Amino acid sequence: MDWSDKTDIAIIGCGFTGLSAALTLARAGREVAILEKNLIGEGASTRNGGITSGNIRLSQKQLTSRFGPERAQTFIDESVAARADLERFIRENKIDCDYQAVGRIVGLTGSFSSQTIERDHNEFANRYDIEPRLISKAEMAEYTNSKKYGAGILRPDIGGIHPAKLLHEMVRLALDAGVKIFSETPVTQVANRKTTFTLTTTKGQVTAQHLISATNAYTDQAQPWLRRRLIPVISEMIATEKLGTNRMRALMPKLNMFGESKQLGHYYRPSPDAQRILLGGRRMHKQESFAKQRLHDGLTAIFPELKDTKINSYWRGFVAFPFDQLPKLAVHKGIIYPSGFCGSGTVWARWLGQKAAFMVLGEAAESAFKNLPMKTLPLYSGDPWFLPLAMSYYRLRDRLSVSTK
Ligand SMILES: Cc1cc2nc3c(=O)[nH]c(=O)nc-3n(C[C@H](O)[C@H](O)[C@H](O)COP(=O)(O)OP(=O)(O)OC[C@H]3O[C@@H](n4cnc5c(N)ncnc54)[C@H](O)[C@@H]3O)c2cc1C
Repeated sequence: MDWSDKTDIAIIGCGFTGLSAALTLARAGREVAILEKNLIGEGASTRNGGITSGNIRLSQKQLTSRFGPERAQTFIDESVAARADLERFIRENKIDCDYQAVGRIVGLTGSFSSQTIERDHNEFANRYDIEPRLISKAEMAEYTNSKKYGAGILRPDIGGIHPAKLLHEMVRLALDAGVKIFSETPVTQVANRKTTFTLTTTKGQVTAQHLISATNAYTDQAQPWLRRRLIPVISEMIATEKLGTNRMRALMPKLNMFGESKQLGHYYRPSPDAQRILLGGRRMHKQESFAKQRLHDGLTAIFPELKDTKINSYWRGFVAFPFDQLPKLAVHKGIIYPSGFCGSGTVWARWLGQKAAFMVLGEAAESAFKNLPMKTLPLYSGDPWFLPLAMSYYRLRDRLSVSTK
């Protein structure tokens, strides 16, 4: 691809966020260049578990106490819209990414109030015409062979994709629309001069009228403002050896996506070809060998019958948490930052990348996540020394937990 030292819009980072913004802009006839430090998709987007959760880490109760009931509802509204929009995007663009609308079950541990859950589900169903279900312990056998959970919550509107296939397809669509993608082109400096941005890269300089930063948890020293506002957290996954379809069906009969109600619980799913289990969680130990073992222990706590099952692969990546644990569509000194998806970027990255593009196009880009203050801590520069403490705190909360969130 020929290097050009000028573009209408520059985007830093080629994951779901950058590609989503680029595709939207290029289809609107704009000239777009994506600058990617490593290989295309080498950040979180291809390391992803592919569960289209579109989670918001804060519960409706927490959102309400922070923003009041009406504004709290706008966050939930947007999560439902964003998830549906991903499905529309996949369908309309005929994207082959093994999309499976199988529903996600959150396994509940600890005590919970069925009445409260049923009431919340009724409100949800009335508003969105989507019917979550509380699944009793006895009924759980239809969905999982695990005996770990006291009950489960089924969300039928959550499914799974093959993340690398989605990324590959988004690259194809972006290139078809005329986006220029420069891989192995780290941006080392960003300068803002009146109405233009000048980006210094290892291939030379490029000037742009607009700049979208889509680097998220992989943000480096080139963007100190964003780096100070995101906490990169290691998320890691394992894939079992091939179990075969019959065994998979015995363990997870309806091949649903799964999560757990704990703060530091695991997420897991059948691989898109339904041959293996993929299971992930947040890193608790510095050492990788412990980390891998912890995931295997997590798997056998769910399915003790997999005690001797071999782990075929282990991988890890970073996910970005803002200090208030809410995704962001921030603007600072003219740069647009769709960021901080708290480990749920399959839905949010594409959605807020698209919104960032709408902002450049001057189109309606309403979002509950726009203009939220993006805070930092004094002396924090992007190296989260406090993370082990935070993890210990959440682990303790999980041990004492009686919540159903
Ligand atoms: C192990 C794991 C499992 C996950 N599972 C799920 C899941 O099941 N469901 C879900 O919804 N989400 C999941 N996520 C989160 C999701 O993958 C991310 O939220 C999402 O991919 C973020 O996309 P992005 O495009 O914003 O960032 P990324 O895909 O991380 O892309 C950022 C890019 O910016 C580039 N970059 C950084 N600095 C520079 C620079 N100076 N110059 C040029 N380029 C630069 C990086 O190289 C990188 O490629 C998971 C994440 C991980 C790590």
